[in-house]
Amino acid sequence: MANKEKVLFDNGVHKFIMFSFDDESQEDSYLSVNQYLIVQKNTGVLIDPGSEAIFDELSEAVSKYVPLENIKFIFLSHQDPDVSGSITQWSVSTSAKFIISALWVRFMSHYGFLDMSRIMPLADHGAKINFGDNYLQFVPAHFLHSPGNFSMYDSASKILFSGDIGAAIVNMDDDYKHVQNFDEHKVYLEGFHKRYMGSNKLCRAWVNHVEKLDVEIIAPQHGLLFEGENVRLFLDWLKELECGSDNIDALY
Ligand code: FE
Repeated sequence: MANKEKVLFDNGVHKFIMFSFDDESQEDSYLSVNQYLIVQKNTGVLIDPGSEAIFDELSEAVSKYVPLENIKFIFLSHQDPDVSGSITQWSVSTSAKFIISALWVRFMSHYGFLDMSRIMPLADHGAKINFGDNYLQFVPAHFLHSPGNFSMYDSASKILFSGDIGAAIVNMDDDYKHVQNFDEHKVYLEGFHKRYMGSNKLCRAWVNHVEKLDVEIIAPQHGLLFEGENVRLFLDWLKELECGSDNIDALY
């Protein structure tokens, strides 16, 4: 049984927690899914809460760290069901504002979510918002893979939630959640990134942005964390990656 949660950062007032609840109906696909929670002074920010199938388990786990009514923001990196599928459930159980690319606001009604006043739409260049004594920065990650897509940087923990960037197709059956050896891990990154990510030019634009931030951990929505020197190794790898439209001849 995999360990379902891990505290990645805790300085007494600010915590960053990783959960790994999988949709068990998808067990054979080995696409493990990570959800994250930031808590500062009893106020929470939930990140990519995922599908409806994991809502009960995740909300129970989250409520051990912060009362659900104290969740102020729920960040959705993009529109996919494994990211945003539970928006309706979270809108009922919290009074949080949902932060998502402006491109996807109107699509949320297809998940049964109708109160658009609860959404804070992000313009393409992103935004920076104050959170307690620190800030959260929404970093453009468009076409990596979704056309309206953001990563989120937490200045207090120096953790960058990268969404699908850095996602690996691995089975998270054991307790370790970070990459041990980047060279060995590359094989789990390659297939996914080559097909799902837009192009090398887009990867470079994202890396250039991220290099201006002081990042200690890159935390993706699927697979393992990049810590320490693996942050640099991953960014260098992504900069050189040929993907998406770079391989157009293989697609058409
Ligand atoms: Fe996705």
